[in-house]
Amino acid sequence: MKTRFRILAALLALSLCLGLAACGAETPAAPAPSEAEAAADTAPAEAPAEPEPTESPVSLPGLSWPAERAEGPSAVSYPYIVRTENAVWHLSKDDTELLGEEAYCAGLEQMLQNANADFVEAQALLAPWLWEEIPPVDIYTDFSGHMEESRTFGAYYRGQAKDIRLFHNWNAAGQSLLHEYVHYLSFSCTDKPIIMNLWADALAEYVSCYACRNRMARTAYLAMMDPETVEEGRKYGLLDEDGCLDPARMLLFQAERIKAPENVGQKYGSISQAFIIRTERMNEHPSYTTISYPEAGAILAYLVETYGEDLVFGHWDTEPSDMEEVYGKGFEELYRDWEVWNLAKCGELGIRLDMAKADAEKAS
Ligand SMILES: [Zn+2]
Repeated sequence: MKTRFRILAALLALSLCLGLAACGAETPAAPAPSEAEAAADTAPAEAPAEPEPTESPVSLPGLSWPAERAEGPSAVSYPYIVRTENAVWHLSKDDTELLGEEAYCAGLEQMLQNANADFVEAQALLAPWLWEEIPPVDIYTDFSGHMEESRTFGAYYRGQAKDIRLFHNWNAAGQSLLHEYVHYLSFSCTDKPIIMNLWADALAEYVSCYACRNRMARTAYLAMMDPETVEEGRKYGLLDEDGCLDPARMLLFQAERIKAPENVGQKYGSISQAFIIRTERMNEHPSYTTISYPEAGAILAYLVETYGEDLVFGHWDTEPSDMEEVYGKGFEELYRDWEVWNLAKCGELGIRLDMAKADAEKAS
């Protein structure tokens, strides 16, 4: 049971961070941050030249979208680009060599089949708070790990450059990309940029795990699920109608598991993008600076369901310290309200927290 529990825990953690897989494997229900945010962006800009299309498209093996030869300084590292309605994909020379051209293109092909539908769905959900025209976002793969951030994060939205960097491999990219795209929308495609940390990641988790289908993540999960993970997902009630781990169920489940008494002392990625140890005091007095990503996303789901999108999204630029002015309650009181809602929601969705708790106790 211990092994099986850890298998699922590791997979759940991978949904947020592949860079610290060892941490995820050793700390059930303790996911890590998925990325760093705009203001934390200190990475040196990497020749952010805007590639221009050339006259003739290039056909790459197994890729049904036409590619173009890139131009400018970045063309050395990213010799090809693929333009879609909502994104410009920059194809890495090193990553193509790392995976082999066919495998690299096959992974990209799978992402392209889902990405636009996911982007459009997120845009539609947040439309009243975004610009009418959303510029295509630049997406770069860095599976070879050139950026230092790839050692810590699963993916990265660079606020100044306004681009997304995908790390590790295509499955990791599939799990992270919609989360990062929500950062792009809410930081860089609005007249009222979202507040960092709590609201930014609560929104990114809520949209990518709960409110939208997230075809990219589901496809990645299906590719990664071995028979034991399927069995465990079924046992805990985390599978969707297609037998895939359901991001919404996983969000609520992870939020419960992280704050469970038996997980006091476990390391997890906090909303402030630091790894910290869960303490009893954190559970007694939860703070918007120390909760986990899944808690933040699930709390936003509760707020939207209770107070409505207009109030919640309309105040995403309000400092969390001022949330009492918006909701009439401070964070701790809202957290207690959310706990009741989350538990009830888990019951409605058939999530078996009792089974997970029993397995965790056996494993300890
Ligand atoms: Zn994030």
